[in-house]
Amino acid sequence: SFTAFVIADDNGKPKGSFTTLSPSDLPDHEVLVEVSHSTVNYKDGLAVTGKAKIARKLPMVAGIDLAGTVVESRSPAWKAGDRVVVNGWGLSETQWGGYSRYQRVKPEWLIRLPDVFTPEQAMGIGTAGYTAALCVDALERWGAIQPGGGEVLVTGAAGGVGSVAVALLAKRGYAVTATTGRPETHDYLRGLGAGGFIDRATLLEKGPPLQKERWAGGVDSVGGQTLVNALSQTVWGGAIAACGLAGSSDLPGTVLPHILRSVTLIGIDSVMAPADRRASAWVRLARDLDPGHLSAMYEVHPFADLPTLGERILAGQIRGRVVLDLSA
Ligand code: NAP
Repeated sequence: SFTAFVIADDNGKPKGSFTTLSPSDLPDHEVLVEVSHSTVNYKDGLAVTGKAKIARKLPMVAGIDLAGTVVESRSPAWKAGDRVVVNGWGLSETQWGGYSRYQRVKPEWLIRLPDVFTPEQAMGIGTAGYTAALCVDALERWGAIQPGGGEVLVTGAAGGVGSVAVALLAKRGYAVTATTGRPETHDYLRGLGAGGFIDRATLLEKGPPLQKERWAGGVDSVGGQTLVNALSQTVWGGAIAACGLAGSSDLPGTVLPHILRSVTLIGIDSVMAPADRRASAWVRLARDLDPGHLSAMYEVHPFADLPTLGERILAGQIRGRVVLDLSA
């Protein structure tokens, strides 16, 4: 038997607690993984504390991401000893997730962990970092930006998605401008490769629908007026990859940047991204994310701290990313 964090029904409300499971409790998927590390995303905080209904069926093992080693596999695609990662795919919503020492998953959810990363580092990257890589991939695939050239905007830059986006873009030779509401993070972001800063408040102000053309591309995790301003300041033929709503889910803009400057708004969803896009994002992370930068982005906590970490992430008390060590 082993320990898992399970969300169960408590008089009509979801309630999470550490529970002892045995292998026969796990879903009947083909690949059994020994989970060494997971992570705590904002959405995990909501699930763990019961503040929002993330699980769509109960009981549910929470945890959106997991990393570990294959123990046994009924699929020829994987064998015992393979080092693997899962991001998304409905884990903690419709499928049992990463807050369990062992989990059974579908073979197509797994990504081979690049050799350069430990499972701990993979969870330091987590869904946030992998989503940042999907955004940069999408901008390059669209042709809005080419390595070595173009000014690129990253909003919410001190956050999980933003900081990895800054590091990935700078490594490729782009001139990166970061918006953040936390001036105390400027040195950290400069260290990751940001060349200039814009105060968060500046991009929250409503401006004209077409502003001075500046950005070849952008990675936006904020949404709302920030995203609208980013689009209004994008050069002819440029693109913004939008993946988040940390500021707002609104899109209070006009079609003018799109129809007068051929500006593209690229939507990024990491949860159901197909395998080839995921693989490409992880190749980018392995190639472009400096291990020294990565180690500055996260802190490691034992599994037992999960309930407290859930509360802290919702209270905005966590800087960077949190890795959970399930073996501790
Ligand atoms: P995070 O670490 O909390 O970072 C979000 C950042 O947004 C904050 O650090 C802050 O940056 C900025 N921010 C917060 N509140 C704001 C406000 N009211 N106005 C303007 N800026 C604000 O979260 P994350 O993990 O990076 O995730 C960012 C967003 O992406 C979230 O909305 C998340 O749900 C979404 N997301 C989506 C996907 C997907 O598949 N599409 C995947 C992962 C995450 P500064 O401190 O630098 O100002």
